[in-house]
Amino acid sequence: MTLGRMGACFSVVTLLSCAPVVLDQAVKAPVMPEMTVGATYNSSSFTLENGMEVVIVPIANAPIVHMQFTYRVGSNDEEPGKSGLAHYLEHLMFRAGEKANAGHLEQVAQAGGSSNAYTSNEVTSYFNAVPPEKFEETLKSEAQRIRALTNDESGAAVELDVVKREKTQRGDSTAAKFYEKLLAAIWGDRPNGRPVIGTDADLNGLTLADARAFHAKWYGASNIGLVIAGKITVPQAAELVMRYMAPLPASPVPKRPWRKLPLPTAKFEPLVVRGPDVGTPSLLRTRLISYPDVLKPTAQAAILVASQAVAGSADSRLSRPLVYTDPVATGVSFSARGQMNGALTVSIAASPLDLNDLSGLDKRLSTELDTVRTKPITDAEVEKVKKRYLAALEQMRDKPASVASTFSNAFVIGQPPADTENWPAVVKAVSAKQANDALQILLSPGPWLDARLLPRESARKTEPSKPKKSEPK
Ligand SMILES: [Zn+2]
Repeated sequence: MTLGRMGACFSVVTLLSCAPVVLDQAVKAPVMPEMTVGATYNSSSFTLENGMEVVIVPIANAPIVHMQFTYRVGSNDEEPGKSGLAHYLEHLMFRAGEKANAGHLEQVAQAGGSSNAYTSNEVTSYFNAVPPEKFEETLKSEAQRIRALTNDESGAAVELDVVKREKTQRGDSTAAKFYEKLLAAIWGDRPNGRPVIGTDADLNGLTLADARAFHAKWYGASNIGLVIAGKITVPQAAELVMRYMAPLPASPVPKRPWRKLPLPTAKFEPLVVRGPDVGTPSLLRTRLISYPDVLKPTAQAAILVASQAVAGSADSRLSRPLVYTDPVATGVSFSARGQMNGALTVSIAASPLDLNDLSGLDKRLSTELDTVRTKPITDAEVEKVKKRYLAALEQMRDKPASVASTFSNAFVIGQPPADTENWPAVVKAVSAKQANDALQILLSPGPWLDARLLPRESARKTEPSKPKKSEPK
């Protein structure tokens, strides 16, 4: 384990071992930028002249090469009346481009790989996992679709139907409706409160021209973070990145006005959503707070350790009493997620052991939270949490998809690759005082939104499941 050496192990080197780059056109070969090498993941990172940020992580024993292209754009960036556009564009990116014979999905599948993507309110990310010998052609296919979106009107109409079907299938579940209402209750009419998939009215009005304009605005090279992780050498990957990505034109990165909007301050009304497809009721308390430097690693590490001490394992502050020693819940979770507008969403969720006694669970949860607030997390608890987390992190270091997603997530919030390399050291350095200070902010007085997801009224009286007798280890 090299974690102890963290902090002073970055060096800036110029990669000299690359073969001269040969371009299709007779253009002057781009100059290889300076590369930063990190010691946790052994990543090499550099920024192309067009602004694209590139991270290469060689993993010798991986069977594949994983590529993740992350764009700093999501549903928050849609204009009013165009909700669902970011996700619709994500779908269109898999259709044949102007010059391509097959869509990207078919090309990757023919290469024996897999390809997928996701859209959130802040980000759109595309990934491919391919055998090493197919790395180059997949990269080339990506360069093609970054440059040119499909202009096939009928194909685009078919894809819009696919998106609408996806909305119907997802939106049908009560849990999905609950989540949608929850976001709207927390964020009001701010972009974060809109469903990523879009409203029916907006979806009906989306056109290929909308998607092409959105693509032209947001899909420039300078808005992309590319992570390549897997069975690849740095010189080989860097050379191919230079060949296919460096020639993409630079483009200005658009402003994202929603990042500066003040957080909503309204008091919340309790939210109750019922549905026939809800098996187990759940109780959720959630809130939105502004947290100093929430996107900085030191703040994130303190929040992480505090959250894990509260409900990260069987022996944590909420899980032990509520699920094990005097059980009233089948499970409890505590999460705190930082967002790009500086907000932190804190959520506590639990499901009752006795399906008919949600208020009993609610009361006990309040009592245990009071204890958490008043009885500080000890040094021993903090050390245990950190040890467990760092061991889990160590285990994902040779998994290309996990590594790529870790660096991509950092790119989204503007953290340089060096921060990801240094992250284990930052977590290791969190003190009990820092964790407790974080926890006091997370649980500070202020409005919480009480939400319940319940089975349909007069649902069958179900026998409570047996309490868990076993003590956590
Ligand atoms: Zn979709």
